[in-house]
Amino acid sequence: MMFREFATRFAPSPTGPLHLGHAFSALFAHDMARSCGGRFVLRIEDIDATRSRQEWEDAIYTDLTWLGITWDGVLRQSDRSNNYLSALRELWDMGVLFECRCNRRDIQAALSAPQEGAPLMGPDGLVYPGTCRTTGPIGVFSTGSVLRLNMRAACEHVANQMPLFFEETGHPDHLDKPVAVSSDWLIKHVGDVVLSRRDFLGSYHLSVVLDDVAQNISHVVRGRDLFEATSVHRLVQALLGFDSPVYHHHDLIRDSRGRRLAKRDNAKSIGLLRDAGATVSDIRLLVGLD
Ligand code: GLU
Repeated sequence: MMFREFATRFAPSPTGPLHLGHAFSALFAHDMARSCGGRFVLRIEDIDATRSRQEWEDAIYTDLTWLGITWDGVLRQSDRSNNYLSALRELWDMGVLFECRCNRRDIQAALSAPQEGAPLMGPDGLVYPGTCRTTGPIGVFSTGSVLRLNMRAACEHVANQMPLFFEETGHPDHLDKPVAVSSDWLIKHVGDVVLSRRDFLGSYHLSVVLDDVAQNISHVVRGRDLFEATSVHRLVQALLGFDSPVYHHHDLIRDSRGRRLAKRDNAKSIGLLRDAGATVSDIRLLVGLD
């Protein structure tokens, strides 16, 4: 791999307060980069304008600074529309995208037909039943509609590279050899994921791949809940001709009942803990980092 230096990132969405899970992820990635003289950058995932707020972005900077985190640059997804657009056009011309007009109810109805058997769950929820699927660049490329990846066509497009591999240094089940991503698995268990949404250009799966390249990320450090999604990212990298970074999917911070922390659990937000008198050492201790 041709990365010149260790570089990682923290990529929060400015849609609510950072909680202990975010603090763990940010501190963990930051400590990892700094311990080897590497780069640590931020990415503000503000592409969803309906949910993103400037006040939450400001709060992210306040919380991270208070935690003692320094960063070597910030990329805001809302500035990246042209990059997402040109990648979508490239994928469209390859014949691996199609326009989808289904809403959630249509998808559920198609999957509940008796011949379908039990619906499969992929990284984005129900695996798409293929109702609108077409093969090849049919119609005219346009934005403002939902574009899905035709998973079978996409796998065929990179058939000479299959299976794809990525290196994983965090998930205990995958430390001894690279993780293999096969066409069969992608087609059956992931399906036709969304790469562009009606209201914003790049879905998470597209923007994360392009942004990791733009920020020259050598190691993607993030929560284990995104481990399955990495197979989609690996495929998008192959389609667009990008090298794959190394991945480190760390354990998730859970509450006392074993549930994953979410933004709605306001009680555990960094801001509230700070206001209640917690110190940075307290936070590090709470997330198991000291
Ligand atoms: N914005 C995502 C999150 O807050 C992180 C995505 C990533 O690190 O790839 O979970």
